[in-house]
Amino acid sequence: MGVIGVYGVSSASTVIYYGLHNLQHRGQEGAGIATFDSTGQCRRFRGLGLMDKIFDPASISHLEGNIGIGAVRYANVSHGGLDNVQPLFFHHKSGDFAIAGDGNVVNSRQLADYLEDHGTIFQTATDSEILAHLIKKDGNEDRIVNIVNALNMMEGGFSFIIMTKNRLYACRDKYGIKPLCLGKLADGYVVSSESCAFDIIGATFIRDITPGEIVTIDDKGLRTRQYSRFSKHRMCSMEYIYFARPDSDIDGCNVHAYRKEAGRRLYRENPVEADIVVGVPESSLSAAMGFSEESGIPYEMGLIKHKYVGRTFIQPVQEMRELGVKMKLSPVKSIVSGKRIALVDDSIVRGTTSLKIVKLLREAGAKEVHVRIASPMMTHPCFYGVDTSTPEELLCSHRTLEEACQAIGADSLGFLSPESTNASCFGCAEPCMACFTGDYPTALYNEITK
Ligand code: AMP
Ligand code: SF4
Repeated sequence: MGVIGVYGVSSASTVIYYGLHNLQHRGQEGAGIATFDSTGQCRRFRGLGLMDKIFDPASISHLEGNIGIGAVRYANVSHGGLDNVQPLFFHHKSGDFAIAGDGNVVNSRQLADYLEDHGTIFQTATDSEILAHLIKKDGNEDRIVNIVNALNMMEGGFSFIIMTKNRLYACRDKYGIKPLCLGKLADGYVVSSESCAFDIIGATFIRDITPGEIVTIDDKGLRTRQYSRFSKHRMCSMEYIYFARPDSDIDGCNVHAYRKEAGRRLYRENPVEADIVVGVPESSLSAAMGFSEESGIPYEMGLIKHKYVGRTFIQPVQEMRELGVKMKLSPVKSIVSGKRIALVDDSIVRGTTSLKIVKLLREAGAKEVHVRIASPMMTHPCFYGVDTSTPEELLCSHRTLEEACQAIGADSLGFLSPESTNASCFGCAEPCMACFTGDYPTALYNEITK
């Protein structure tokens, strides 16, 4: 999921629309924008699918106001359908409000049970709705105290933007698992999951919201407070490895720079004799560049990603899925034929991508295919909102390195060590690497790990 909020900016909805475009990689299932207009009325528009399909000039201009929030939705975080597309909007006697959130609250089942036992009836399967009810559960007048208390009941990796008619609250989980940053735009402010959303709207990056921080933005300017004294800094390493855009800076570390450094270390740890380095477009290109620089092996455009691929009709049957990968990626025969290839990818989840690409390259005449992965073997599920699959489906959860190599049909296979994955990250001394190590930064309530 990706979230954005703007305060004190004319035509907030247009700004959010462009910002969400740059966050589209964080979720393609649905998107929504909510604003408060000058009369204090909340206006909201949501839809399923990609930004371009959902919004048009008429729906944007209907969303009047100088304050607004928006979200793109990622599948598999909770149930699908329009109801679960954020922002969510709530009526309350103390004032209407809206919430957009990223991530996953791991004790959401327990919190929902508690609230349902006290009369709450939920309309969605989102953590944002749980947060709304927790904030309002005591009837306390002091809104920030309610928000602090509510966030302290939530365990997990999340960021939330809460909007009232004249104020934004930007909150980041106390472990700093999810990213959230703050920018300046004209006389107003912007908060966003990633800084790449600032560039397109002409905002200037100010800083990251810190783990456990709530930044309040209103006509008094900016105020900050910590909701927890027990904050840590365990930013999600998969954001750097795969999820975030290379032009984003997260917690002081540029994503492209991270991936390039990981690629360099990957070669040092897993050297190989090859004629060319080929990266799997798009998320692995930075790592492949680093691998090529470190090894001196030339980088070549051995795979081309098709820009205009239809998505849904290729899903249902297996043969069509196979065709789907061929439609997404093509080997460049004249480049790969007869060559020993170092194929660099950012991660192996189920292993389907690697298996198919190795096959495609061999069919195109590659002499050898040596797969190098710029992250460690993924062995554990993520409980913080990144869909990294179930333990049974993860290729490396029940295979040795040799077995994994065999399963994807490569001549050799190498992964980046957890130490180097950690060391490539300049911004966070101890990022979350639980899907590689099983060392989860939070308590786990809803799920049992191996
Ligand atoms: P798989 O084919 O299941 O092994 O997936 C690995 C590929 O999917 C890699 O090339 C990654 O770029 C990409 N990837 C990694 N993590 C995710 C994720 N959480 N959701 C979707 N794709 C991912
Ligand atoms: Fe990120 Fe993996 Fe930690 Fe999930 S478990 S937050 S994907 S590093």
